[in-house]
Amino acid sequence: MARSGLINSDRVLAALTKVNRAHYVQDIEGAYVDAPQYIGYGATISAPHMHAHAAENLLPLLHPGARVLDVGSGSGYLCAVFHHLISDGAPGKVVGIDHIPELVDWSVENLRKDGLGEAVDDGRIVMVAGDGRQGYPSLGPYDVIHVGAAAPKLPSVLVDQLASPGRMFIPVGSYSQEILQVDKDEHGNVTKKQLFGVMYVPLTDKDKQF
Ligand code: SAH
Repeated sequence: MARSGLINSDRVLAALTKVNRAHYVQDIEGAYVDAPQYIGYGATISAPHMHAHAAENLLPLLHPGARVLDVGSGSGYLCAVFHHLISDGAPGKVVGIDHIPELVDWSVENLRKDGLGEAVDDGRIVMVAGDGRQGYPSLGPYDVIHVGAAAPKLPSVLVDQLASPGRMFIPVGSYSQEILQVDKDEHGNVTKKQLFGVMYVPLTDKDKQF
């Protein structure tokens, strides 16, 4: 991906290189293919280039010691990438939330297989089951919020949980979706920028997912 210009940042390249995608998929054969893959329960692990885009977009706020919330954390892959990006010299925190408890348990297993058991045990990575549309206020505010499922409209609850400054990367839309970059500046002013069109699993009610 770096050679073909899909990754432009050395920091993102280094973080992605530390995460073995084979630990976060069901079908090992497709682990290193740049495509999404079904992971059960109506969910998919995103394609590596989407994870790279998200990490590069959020990079200015992913400083050592940062707090990150990953809504719709699924396989846990992106939580691992974020962990590596914020752990250089200071203990940051990555909170992953997904509403499918089985996926949350599986993501913890995946993180352990990928060598991140200690970070899970000491709370640098926290994986929780719950409705991510409510965010996870008790561990916020967050320098970065990544949303891995498409919301019909921008949830104000999540904007409230952004730190000042902070940035959110979120797919928005029901039929046609696009990525919104939501920035909160140091005074709390919020600005939005449309980035590009995407197709994500919806951010929805648990019983509507299958
Ligand atoms: N980014 C993850 C998963 C993407 S699929 C990865 O790459 O592995 C989207 C995920 O969002 C699914 O795991 C799904 O269960 C979750 N999801 C959908 N609606 C949700 C909600 N309301 N609250 C929490 N998680 C939700």
